[in-house]
Amino acid sequence: MVDLKGQYAEIKKEVNDSIQEVLETTAFVNGPKVHEFQKNLENYLGVKHVIPCANGTDALQIAMMGLGLKPGDEVITADFTFAATVEVIALLNLTPVLVDVDPETFNIDIDAVKKAITPKTKAIVPVHLFGQCANMDALMALAKEHNLYIIEDNAQGIGAKYKNSKGEKVMSGTIGHVASTSFFPSKNLGCYGDGGAIFTNDDDLAHIIRGIVNHGMYKRYHHDVVGVNSRLDSIQAAVLDAKLPHLDSYNNKRRNAAKKYNKAFTNHPKITTPKTVNGCDDICDACDCHVFHQYTLKIKNADRDALAKHLNDNGIPCGVYYPIPLHKQKAYLDSRYKEEDFVVTNQLVKEVISLPMHTELDDEQIDFITNTIINFIDNN
Ligand SMILES: *Cc1c(COP(=O)(O)O)cnc(C)c1O
Repeated sequence: MVDLKGQYAEIKKEVNDSIQEVLETTAFVNGPKVHEFQKNLENYLGVKHVIPCANGTDALQIAMMGLGLKPGDEVITADFTFAATVEVIALLNLTPVLVDVDPETFNIDIDAVKKAITPKTKAIVPVHLFGQCANMDALMALAKEHNLYIIEDNAQGIGAKYKNSKGEKVMSGTIGHVASTSFFPSKNLGCYGDGGAIFTNDDDLAHIIRGIVNHGMYKRYHHDVVGVNSRLDSIQAAVLDAKLPHLDSYNNKRRNAAKKYNKAFTNHPKITTPKTVNGCDDICDACDCHVFHQYTLKIKNADRDALAKHLNDNGIPCGVYYPIPLHKQKAYLDSRYKEEDFVVTNQLVKEVISLPMHTELDDEQIDFITNTIINFIDNN
């Protein structure tokens, strides 16, 4: 699904030099590299505060702790996402409220969110799934109306832009009250281990969060709040700092691969290509609203699982993200959920298939992948 070896080969010297700097200084935890990367990412995003931490799941949890959410508070999030999002809500004894998603963008459905808001609702966590922003204008308006926090789960969307109602393009992860991201190796900006970060423009929240990531300490050995130990290590920061200047070009490469995939599947009756809705209708040259963390097709009136097996048999990796709706997962069952409220997710889990998507895909690979898929679907 990803080609980290090929990518490393292209930037070997930059990455090695950056890591070497850390080795020479032996500042392995909270060293200057972490601070350098933090500043560079703040500049790239145009956000006031980046707080690095150990991984994207911690980032979400710490964001929620920083907002002071309390047990019993309801937090609305999407039924169709990676489990980390709902996991941290439950872990903090907040009440997860899963809602359906939009069938075109796979992102949280605004009408479903509206229906789910109660007096106990305190926050909404939109996930910029597969690399395209959720409908942030609508969510921010709801937040204002109902006095809620918006926590962007930007683990899959780093570098994507969102065209707001004023026509301005803003970076994903800088729109809500706070955002989280992950630097897991396969993410669009990945390190060589685990890593994550929290973003916010709110000075007070940033201060609170900086203490939380460091055992609740604001002054050495004074623990004002219950915190955690969640740090981005300096070697990972060195890798990320070397890769950050390439992020836009990496995302462009992903978009170009997506364009080629789209072209090959144009008008196929059983294959629906992913929709880019924010900014333009299809992927144009100026388009920067989708960073294609995943390239995900919907397969209709054909056997998706047989296709997945056929691709694997032919040496083509593929993935089903996600095969089971979160509301059906044992850990997150809730008697309040009704199946008729999850029509889209229940359907998507049967139809979606994600194709190889990374920065090193070449035309020959794309042709082989698309031909294999079309041949199989047309002949079965
Ligand atoms: C990867 C991911 C996370 C978790 O990130 P980790 O760094 O693996 O903890 C959270 N949310 C979404 C949507 C993700 O894709």
